[in-house]
Amino acid sequence: MGTNEQKYVDEAFRTNWIAPLGPNVNQFEEAIQQFINNDVHVAALSSGTGAIHLALEILGVGKGDEVICQSLTFSASANPIKYLGATPVFVDSEKETWNISPKLMEKAILDRIALGKKPKAIVAVHLYGMPYNVAEITAIATKYEIPVVEDSAEALGSSVNDVNCASFGDIGILSFNGNKIITTSGGGALVSKNVDFKKKAVFLATQARDDAPHYQHSHVGYNYRMSNVLAGIGRGQMEVLNDRVAARRSNFQFYKDKLSHLEQLEFLNEPEGYFSNRWLSCILTPSYEMRERIRYALSQEDIESRPIWKPMHLQPIFKNEPNYSDGTSEELFERGLCLPSGSNLTNQDLERIVSIILKELS
Ligand SMILES: *Cc1c(COP(=O)(O)O)cnc(C)c1O
Repeated sequence: MGTNEQKYVDEAFRTNWIAPLGPNVNQFEEAIQQFINNDVHVAALSSGTGAIHLALEILGVGKGDEVICQSLTFSASANPIKYLGATPVFVDSEKETWNISPKLMEKAILDRIALGKKPKAIVAVHLYGMPYNVAEITAIATKYEIPVVEDSAEALGSSVNDVNCASFGDIGILSFNGNKIITTSGGGALVSKNVDFKKKAVFLATQARDDAPHYQHSHVGYNYRMSNVLAGIGRGQMEVLNDRVAARRSNFQFYKDKLSHLEQLEFLNEPEGYFSNRWLSCILTPSYEMRERIRYALSQEDIESRPIWKPMHLQPIFKNEPNYSDGTSEELFERGLCLPSGSNLTNQDLERIVSIILKELS
């Protein structure tokens, strides 16, 4: 936590705004909007997963539809497709950003169209804070008139050519889960330049009540709005977001400075114009065996590290869904390791981590 979170939470208690609406919710939305880009509209929600669910529903995804989804991601990018009775079509990553490959995505779109099913939406992800190839993905999506849900759950504070992530897609989504770059313990947001999408999101997130004095419903609704108590945490967190990004980037730089002389290790560099919040610092090791050796050596010292996301097309729950892969994400999963990346790591912590890795590789 930063310094003012408690103050805003106290404000909610003092004014008795203990509800999924209130001044903190409005102020938090305003702060996100100002940070990202003044022409976006923001709906604060109870989770990033809920935000993706609403985004897909607002874009018209329903039963029997197909939705393109980046395979290398956390399962929450794909699960909402299933909530709606639609089919995820998984697409592999490119090496440059580890995110959805424009080439394979276009191939998948053409193939699905040939099969008589044009995808209803695309879920593209800025994994670990590194933006996906925004120019090409947007161009292909525009060419085939397929809307993009920009999963920016890991990428608040990232940008391309100084334009912030969450403002590129038809709808962007954010997460404030406890593990993200800033947190409200649990929470999320839907972001869009289309004010009607925001209004629709708030409507659906608050049980879809029609405009009537009694309880009247002509849509199935959800209970997805953010609590005014938690939004107080969010307001305080927005004040320290830039510090958190700086801390995460400095972790990455530390690892890179101390380890990149080892030819066995690869780091994911920012392409020209890209700015990653470096939510997690990841390395590519030469082999699965070496990755596991490093992971085990760290764990022996009580230091947690984790393999890179297991691609969705390899997950038991999704293995029978259509997928367009070329082995890139499978290799990243085998050889990649997420290193400790918290914003509160000290230089001493980082030195300790690096010395264990150096010992394993020398
Ligand atoms: C965390 C995360 C989500 C889900 O956000 P929650 O707020 O935890 O529901 C979705 N996509 C990605 C890529 C994530 O990392």
